[in-house]
Amino acid sequence: MLSPSARFSALALLAIVAPATIVAVLGYVSIRQWEASSELLYREQARDMATMAAEKVEMTLRRAEDDFLDRLQAALRAERSPGRAVDAVLAGSPLVRRLYLVGARGELLYPRAWKESDAAIFGPLVSEPAQRKLERGGQRVVIAENQICLALLTGRGGQPVVVAFLRDDDTLRREILATTLGALESPTIIAVLDREGRTVYSRAPIGDAPRVLSVQFRDALPDWRLAVYQTPGASPRQAVRRQVMFFTGARGALVAVIVAGMARLKSDFVANVSHDLKTPLSVIRMFGETLEMGRVTDEGRRQEYYRVITREGERLTRLIDNVLDFSRIEGGRQTYRMTPTSVEPLVRGTLETFAYPLAQQGFKVEVSVAPDLPEVAMDADAVGQALANLIDNAIKYSADDRALTVDARVVDGRLVIAVTDRGLGIAPEEQAKIFEKFYRVGRSDTQGRRGSGVGLALVRHIAEAHGGDVTVESAPGEGSRFSLRLPLGRS
Ligand code: ADP
Repeated sequence: MLSPSARFSALALLAIVAPATIVAVLGYVSIRQWEASSELLYREQARDMATMAAEKVEMTLRRAEDDFLDRLQAALRAERSPGRAVDAVLAGSPLVRRLYLVGARGELLYPRAWKESDAAIFGPLVSEPAQRKLERGGQRVVIAENQICLALLTGRGGQPVVVAFLRDDDTLRREILATTLGALESPTIIAVLDREGRTVYSRAPIGDAPRVLSVQFRDALPDWRLAVYQTPGASPRQAVRRQVMFFTGARGALVAVIVAGMARLKSDFVANVSHDLKTPLSVIRMFGETLEMGRVTDEGRRQEYYRVITREGERLTRLIDNVLDFSRIEGGRQTYRMTPTSVEPLVRGTLETFAYPLAQQGFKVEVSVAPDLPEVAMDADAVGQALANLIDNAIKYSADDRALTVDARVVDGRLVIAVTDRGLGIAPEEQAKIFEKFYRVGRSDTQGRRGSGVGLALVRHIAEAHGGDVTVESAPGEGSRFSLRLPLGRS
């Protein structure tokens, strides 16, 4: 058999640690799932965002180049041979670094001569096969690592003119990439990489940020990729972990508060019970020692001392029974044996055990038991104990006006045993709480009065086990009336 304190610890362990462990395991599993799904979601969002950003870049670039080609076409129509008008278009197009116009037979129409080694690079591009490809497709092509673009326009006489131009890297970066990508709302780092993986443009320093994914641009920037990097500390796992840490911390604090509260409750309970047991024990000792010394010569007084010892012994038994019953009730092991019981002897017998403290403290006691009470099926020990707890409280919580009334009668088909005092009384907001275990009203009121807060909880349990209840009517400063109400018909 475990000691009450060990039982309490075991219960606390079961009540807190077991559910906490289950919650922790379930929590761990769901955190893993949460992490995995947020990672998936994050990647999907990053891919959508990257695809959209790449399309936007290409659209902006194509629009700028279309605009340039439209203006170039107008210039070609305006001049017999490409000259000043083309110069002007070129001057107004910072995106175009170098421009060559070539005729159908491969002759250079603009400018007058190739610059440096451009003939070697542009020559093959504007050759006949490339021209045929352009004519068939009727589209612009981008070759040589996004640098050179080719397009087919028509000259003043309707003859085809091949346009070859070199994009200006700086302008591309500044006016296309930076304006399009810089404005995107995204917590990630977006960069544009060339064929070798070198960074052409990046919205923020990449450092060693991990790459989430990259998508290929299409025909306007065929060799480049748009890459998405995770900003430090912004990974979905880290975000989940941060939230989990926050919740775990909060839960830990809660458990700590509960454990501290229970430990406090436990130590309060142990202190209160010990205090409760000590008082009758010291009375017994004191009277025992006095008798032992043989100094009490008066037989009458000796008899009184013996009675005190017997009463205090009974009181001790009652206190210990309270604690034991309480622990049996908590463990669900308490049983009641119902037998037909006559009420009057029970009431008087219980009151009798308080004769000494009542007389000693000068209580005015009234007992009134209705004469025609039937026998009632009950566990007489348990009901006696409940009544004793109510009487004990009436004595404990009385101040100067010491009066105790115990009455028993039938009201509305139920046996009502009521204990009335003119003591401290109980505030309305406390009246429901006093029946909870360990609950004791405001410390200053009850300070100095022994108690462990289990008495009324036990009374209620006993009443309910009999199919009845216990009620209180009370007003602070005026007194209290506790009524134990039991059904008559139970057997
Ligand atoms: P305790 O061991 O503290 O007496 P109980 O469960 O018997 O525990 O009572 C709970 C609380 O209800 C008491 O601490 C006290 O504040 C209040 N109480 C109980 N009976 C009375 C009463 N007759 N008059 C005033 N207060 C009472």
